[in-house]
Amino acid sequence: MTNPQHHEIVVIGAGICGSTIANELLLRGKAVCIVDAASSPATACSSHAYAIAHPHIGKGSPRLLRLTRIAFLLAEARWGNTWNKHGIFQPTKKDKHFDQVEVANYLKSLGLDEDIAIALDAQAAEKTCGIGQSGVWLSRGASLNIFEASNTLLKEHVHLTCLWNTRVAKLEQANGQWLLLNQANEAILTADQVVVATAMDTKSLMGSIGIRLPLKPVRGQLSIFSIKKDGPWVQKLPSVGVSGDGYCLPAQQLEDGSYRWMVGSSFDEGEDDLGSRDSSDAFNREQAQGLLAYSEGDPAALIKVGDFVGVRCVAGDRLPIIGALTQRPGIFLATALGSRGILWSALAAKLITAQVLGDDFALLARLGFAADLVAALAPARFFAGALAAPAALASNSKPIFPSAPKAK
Ligand SMILES: Cc1cc2nc3c(=O)[nH]c(=O)nc-3n(C[C@H](O)[C@H](O)[C@H](O)COP(=O)(O)OP(=O)(O)OC[C@H]3O[C@@H](n4cnc5c(N)ncnc54)[C@H](O)[C@@H]3O)c2cc1C
Repeated sequence: MTNPQHHEIVVIGAGICGSTIANELLLRGKAVCIVDAASSPATACSSHAYAIAHPHIGKGSPRLLRLTRIAFLLAEARWGNTWNKHGIFQPTKKDKHFDQVEVANYLKSLGLDEDIAIALDAQAAEKTCGIGQSGVWLSRGASLNIFEASNTLLKEHVHLTCLWNTRVAKLEQANGQWLLLNQANEAILTADQVVVATAMDTKSLMGSIGIRLPLKPVRGQLSIFSIKKDGPWVQKLPSVGVSGDGYCLPAQQLEDGSYRWMVGSSFDEGEDDLGSRDSSDAFNREQAQGLLAYSEGDPAALIKVGDFVGVRCVAGDRLPIIGALTQRPGIFLATALGSRGILWSALAAKLITAQVLGDDFALLARLGFAADLVAALAPARFFAGALAAPAALASNSKPIFPSAPKAK
């Protein structure tokens, strides 16, 4: 192959992450080429049609809590007109005592106003959202079909080039440009700047330029259940989303009177097979009982009619990896979105675009990106000496695994 096409900016990966970034670059007036191994957008983990979004309010590092608040607001600004804003209730953990004042103060300390998150006792929760448990009501919580969202983001645009059925096997630097090579070592494209949004495959692509990233797969299965119209579960089915140990969407009544209800998800660390499993459905039935505090509910009455199975990409410290790869100028990473594809892709679109276009820090700060948050997401956090001596990073790509608390 001779004279590969040149693009100023190439995004590899057309899942929700790459699609959102490409769209943001287009909105900022740039021309973008997006490349994907598949024949259309969102065929991998982003084929998910039932994903939820809300700021994280549970346990986690203070940075995770601040980041999810910013990311939620960015996601709401991007998809608020199209997503399904049913609200999400987060029940108090079974082993926790609920103190309304304490929880309200905690939410305030996270910068969450009452119109985003409000502490409710069981009686108030029953009245507000029909869930008779104490907890936090996230009235702006929503769900999004991320398959549709990705496809919408990549609809025809005069400055958008899409290259489908094109797997990038390797990256190489030559004459101040990046070469994208296929399996046969032929150059597919050249680019000045490359955004890598290929989830787990980012590991091998980065391996091709001597960068080791601590990424691992986490398989997940969400179950779609059917519930007969006259069964005892019907009294319990939620009309809002519920998020706790697992999550569920509001149950929908179908024309024949039965209900359809999405409940997920299994969290199978280190696994990456996409086959459907009965054991994951059984796990989701248990999660359903837990979410609705309905331990006596008959799991067999939740009849499986479908599922979604995907493989999340998760980093060693459970935060996404978003930012310029300072060791390899011109390369930007947006991966390890874990279970928060909606939030992190909205955030990645702003942060990566700002970095690709070289926005000044004041602009980033206006979006809420304090320097410590940018550093917490940066690929450089995995490399020894990263914080002490950023200039000395070029030769050091040995990964370190920070022992931060796990995000959900
Ligand atoms: C069961 C389950 C439940 C979930 N629930 C939620 C939820 O409620 N809320 C939420 O926000 N998120 C949820 N998620 C997470 C969300 O689905 C993911 O975080 C998100 O889809 C990841 O998007 P991505 O673009 O990073 O990766 P992907 O969607 O995997 O996209 C990567 C793309 O890169 C392409 N690609 C890979 N390698 C190459 C290569 N070498 N060359 C060219 N192209 C390549 C692939 O074809 C693919 O299109 C859930 C995930 C699972 C599995």
